[in-house]
Amino acid sequence: AVNIGVLALQGSFREHIALLRRLPGVNASEVRNRQQLLASDGLIIPGGESTTMANIAERWGLIPDLQQFAQAENPLWGTCAGLIFLANRAVGQKVGGQALLGGLDCLVHRNFFGAQIRSFEALMPMPPCFADASNAPFRAVFIRAPAILESGPGVEVLSTYELDADEQQQAKGQKSVAVAVRAGNLMATAFHPELTDDVRWHAVFVALVRERLATRQHSATSVEQG
Ligand code: GLN
Repeated sequence: AVNIGVLALQGSFREHIALLRRLPGVNASEVRNRQQLLASDGLIIPGGESTTMANIAERWGLIPDLQQFAQAENPLWGTCAGLIFLANRAVGQKVGGQALLGGLDCLVHRNFFGAQIRSFEALMPMPPCFADASNAPFRAVFIRAPAILESGPGVEVLSTYELDADEQQQAKGQKSVAVAVRAGNLMATAFHPELTDDVRWHAVFVALVRERLATRQHSATSVEQG
């Protein structure tokens, strides 16, 4: 089985764990310290409140461990607040800013879609590379959601959201924003698949973790043989 850790400092970590446990061959556990992190083959950073999450991570001295985990090419998936935490650059922060883990070459607007009251849902197509036979759209749940305004050349955009006139103005004329991306070992979504009962995004992440494990085992064997 693969071990998927969920950063359990704050936010929707229980919901992620419940969904992961529905997938075959997956052990899901809460991560609150370095030992638990190092026992994970991949880590999910849940939605919640990115400033609070960053503050707790700082206070508990977890930031360097998380950064090393990412630099060692372990898969990480940030949902919503987790996306903000993984981004290299964020705007719309509180005065004084907040710690970001970084690594994801994106500019994120922390509260692009506005306050709690402007939370919404949209039916969106699964990215073609992940679509299953049913081809069913997924329910994208946006809660005080961030958006990816810019992304670097190494970042693959998986889902785009078309903006209405007001939102376009806020995005300085941009007609759409990215709401799901992948770059190497990092994946990020502005929406919350853990608040639905659709396991497909979790399955996508688990597949990425399995792929990384297989590559690693393969290179370990070549080293032994070489
Ligand atoms: N905008 C929130 C933040 O700054 C994220 C909201 C969420 O995770 N649902 O952390």
